[in-house]
Amino acid sequence: MLVDVELFTCHSDNFGVLARDRETGAAMLVDAPEEAPILEAIGRTGWKPSLLLVTHHHHDHVEANLALKRRFGLRIVGPEAEADRIPGIDETVREGDALALGSQEIRVIETPGHTAGHVCYHLPAAGIVFTADTLFALGCGRLFEAPPETMFASLGKLAALPGQTAVYCGHEYTLSNARFALSVDPGNERLKARAARVEALRAQGKPTLPTTIAEELATNPFLRAADPAIRKTLGMEAASDAQVFAELRRRKDSF
Ligand code: ZN
Ligand code: FE
Repeated sequence: MLVDVELFTCHSDNFGVLARDRETGAAMLVDAPEEAPILEAIGRTGWKPSLLLVTHHHHDHVEANLALKRRFGLRIVGPEAEADRIPGIDETVREGDALALGSQEIRVIETPGHTAGHVCYHLPAAGIVFTADTLFALGCGRLFEAPPETMFASLGKLAALPGQTAVYCGHEYTLSNARFALSVDPGNERLKARAARVEALRAQGKPTLPTTIAEELATNPFLRAADPAIRKTLGMEAASDAQVFAELRRRKDSF
């Protein structure tokens, strides 16, 4: 492990993330959902963040930006396309931009869909990606600001990362996502086993993260639009992958 990740709950189902580069001790936050639990995590670990990476403008991801900036003087980085809606932003980023957490390189991946400017942050050497409200464990974000084809392309970028990459997303939605996934992919043995593990974790109040890209490819229906069994269940054998994805997202909206 080159980077340690402290994961904690904010509000009812947001994840807060505090991460530290082992070599240099440099620390950062990914999104700022709620001040109190973030301060608790900093107190618990002793990792003082100098950087805040923002994924998108939604209030539940930027709420504590200004309070944390006042307290720690941290540098706030976020997507250029949403800069005017991200409080306290110091630096804007776009596709392919590189940042650093101490000795660790951070790559910016633009993933429009949930919002028009949403970005994910990938640490290639550490093998971690922070996907916020684009790719969830067993699900994907709602489409508020872009058509399904746009989100489908964004998820494709994440799906192409190395399989062992650890995935940290923005919300604990995994249990309800698992129930939906089983409804469209009922014969998937790996999904059934994972759903059982998710049930057990949630029954104990434990988070269901991190997941991996490989696990999502095997069990997350939103990355499996090409799968013959899912297509058969939907009656969409002849449709394009993007059309199957759009139908899955439409069904999930009213599940
Ligand atoms: Zn959001
Ligand atoms: Fe959110």
